[in-house]
Amino acid sequence: MRKKIVAGNWKMNTLPSEGMTLAKDVIAKSGQVNHDVELVVIPPFTHLSEIVKLASGTRVSVGAQNCAQWKSGAYTGEVSASMLQSLGVEYVILGHSERREYFGETNAELLEKIKIALDCKLKPIFCCGEKLNEREAGEHFQVVQQQVEESLFPLDDSSISNIVIAYEPVWAIGTGKTATAEQAQEMHAFIRNLLANKYGEATAETISILYGGSCKPSNAGEIFSKPDVDGGLIGGASLVADDFIAIAKSF
Ligand code: PEP
Repeated sequence: MRKKIVAGNWKMNTLPSEGMTLAKDVIAKSGQVNHDVELVVIPPFTHLSEIVKLASGTRVSVGAQNCAQWKSGAYTGEVSASMLQSLGVEYVILGHSERREYFGETNAELLEKIKIALDCKLKPIFCCGEKLNEREAGEHFQVVQQQVEESLFPLDDSSISNIVIAYEPVWAIGTGKTATAEQAQEMHAFIRNLLANKYGEATAETISILYGGSCKPSNAGEIFSKPDVDGGLIGGASLVADDFIAIAKSF
């Protein structure tokens, strides 16, 4: 019933020509992955136009890593949701912990970005997750609940259905440390329960919740086997087509 999604966040990596090679490789190998798994590549802005053209008519979708919280105007250096829409981009990551940490993005700003992205028919991949000190203090559920409540709960029922959530414990991102499959399942079930209390069980059951944080071919199978884990948001391992495809084949 829920969409399985494996999305590769390339972050600020690859030159455009390298990105084209990587995207071509992912497309060429995508046939190895079960058809019920959606594959998404999420390159830097500079590559989007060419990669959208390349992926058109294939089973690989394309996403962006961020968008502005304003429609248009004097916001030097920003990229709007409508610009992404006009290129044919389908997904947009919003609230990645690196954006929260280095660019000070707040839950309130993220709500604005999500609304604008939805207005432009983009599908937000909303990232949430706790830092190490928050987990060690036993505050991880509280932190994630606040992120979800402040950035998602103002949305109405039809909007929430177009959101993908990525649970990404910050202590597991790019560190080689992965949450155990049990820790991932526990948090995913917690998030789904929050959604069920707010929007009803039927709606909560349709929302894909991805795991992110040092996901690799060797651990993806166990994590993806959990009932509330609907796929992965993959950072480092998505820069190697064989690894990205191997992760997607873990379902
Ligand atoms: C990410 O940044 O979304 C991520 C999950 O990174 P990594 O897989 O490298 O931990």
